[in-house]
Amino acid sequence: MRKIIIVGGGIAGLAAAYKVARAAETGEDVGFVLFEKDARLGGKIATEFVDGFTVDGGPDCFLTEKPAVHRIAKMLDIFDQELPTDDSRKRTYILSRGRLHDLPDGVMMFAPTKFWPFATTGLFSWPGKIRMGMDLFIKPKQVSGGGIEDETLESFVVRRMGRECLDRLAEPLVGGVHASDPAKMSLAATFPRLLEMEQNYGGMIKGFSAARKKVAEMRKKYPPKPGAKPRTFFTSFEGGMQRLTDAMADAAGRHSMRPGVAVTGISQRPGGWVVDLDDGTRVEGDAVILATESWAAETLVRPIDTGIADALSGITHSSSATVSLAFEESEIGIDMNAFGVLCPLIEGRLLMAATLSSTKWPGRAPKGKVLVRGFVGGPHNQAIMAESDERLAEIVLGELRDVLGVQGEPLFSKVFRWEKGMPQYTIGHLDRVETIERSSAVMPGLALAGGSYRGVGLPNCVESGERAVSKILGEWDITLAEDTEEQKRYY
Ligand SMILES: Cc1cc2nc3c(=O)[nH]c(=O)nc-3n(C[C@H](O)[C@H](O)[C@H](O)COP(=O)(O)OP(=O)(O)OC[C@H]3O[C@@H](n4cnc5c(N)ncnc54)[C@H](O)[C@@H]3O)c2cc1C
Repeated sequence: MRKIIIVGGGIAGLAAAYKVARAAETGEDVGFVLFEKDARLGGKIATEFVDGFTVDGGPDCFLTEKPAVHRIAKMLDIFDQELPTDDSRKRTYILSRGRLHDLPDGVMMFAPTKFWPFATTGLFSWPGKIRMGMDLFIKPKQVSGGGIEDETLESFVVRRMGRECLDRLAEPLVGGVHASDPAKMSLAATFPRLLEMEQNYGGMIKGFSAARKKVAEMRKKYPPKPGAKPRTFFTSFEGGMQRLTDAMADAAGRHSMRPGVAVTGISQRPGGWVVDLDDGTRVEGDAVILATESWAAETLVRPIDTGIADALSGITHSSSATVSLAFEESEIGIDMNAFGVLCPLIEGRLLMAATLSSTKWPGRAPKGKVLVRGFVGGPHNQAIMAESDERLAEIVLGELRDVLGVQGEPLFSKVFRWEKGMPQYTIGHLDRVETIERSSAVMPGLALAGGSYRGVGLPNCVESGERAVSKILGEWDITLAEDTEEQKRYY
């Protein structure tokens, strides 16, 4: 049997393991062994249950429109456990000049697509609104030789919609999702669709208005089946996101997984690979998939290929923490009919954003109690990560009191730290990833996967893990019936 050694038990590593297991099920003589340095599988996906609360410490959802997680959920028979948001309570606040404003209806990414909500919002000044409206008249950037030309999120938004739109909307909404600095963030690597939209539609307002119309037409053409769950923008799982990675681990086979064991080195041997483990032992295999963060992969790859290692070292990461606080509903003293609040950097707060988790995701708190989750850290506030868990909980509580008016004392707090947890897709990211992929493509039995490369979103990570397996199986002339061209494309 040919054995693939998978390093890293996050969603990308588990997606790889599950794909190898499916190949074995179809009769291919392949298997895997997976090493994860933490005692728990799932990587950034971490759900804990505290006194009847379901607390997600990392991702709490995935983007519904991307198919990979749904596909896996169907295969795992947990599709019926997918959890849409409770859109009857959908409302997002943005803090602006110390006051809470509703995110105006019709705003898509950072483009207004409905006139009245935009005209009447107090979120922007009138000069700011007029400047945003100029997007309708500003010509698309001339791109030499066709195609798209990369630029930062900041340069793009300021050029098309003005500085106020960047500071009050795009930075918290778009930069915040990636916990990234808009002045460094590569648009081609994070939201290439925006660059295409500018070229195809002439601007953001026209582009997003067309997109909104298309969504409405599709909804009319394909109305939800009677009794089916609503299709909301984001989706989670009943029982938290770890339901997904737990099911992936079960289906792939936990007997082939070794949590709590770190890989300390990799090397080539004739026709295969050897990995060194932190318990002092070595394991031989026919191929290695590095499904770790890129900084962890860099250390392992450097003795093998300095070109790949140098490209990996160019991918920086920022640290952040989530702090979940539980309250008695009768004591919290705020209207819980909202999904949360975004705090733009320009407001100078320590809190980046907060989610009213038990509103957004039904079932996250017992009856009569509520759960709120705050985010701190990100590229502009790395210093906060030096604080203790107790202090982080105090800071977030203080911010929630100031920003939302939260009252009452928390029933408990739960802090999750993500040191170097969020890759920064800065300008040049795609070139770095292409170097990594091209160089590893010609190295038999080596593939890299994970959120550091072609998308931090969970569906992207699933596809990345699967592509790594397709690369290796392809070298062994094995193509699975389920392989799509996209899954096979590795370089
Ligand atoms: C706070 C936060 C919130 C997020 N929210 C969302 C969200 O709502 N929706 C969304 O789609 N995405 C979200 N993301 C992004 C998403 O969580 C990640 O992109 C994704 O989980 C990364 O998965 P991965 O498998 O690539 O990496 P990881 O989950 O980081 O897994 C890599 C694993 O490799 C292990 N490892 C490293 N080195 C070694 C070694 N030497 N030996 C053995 N094991 C090793 C690590 O311990 C880790 O478990 C969020 C991220 C963070 C930090």
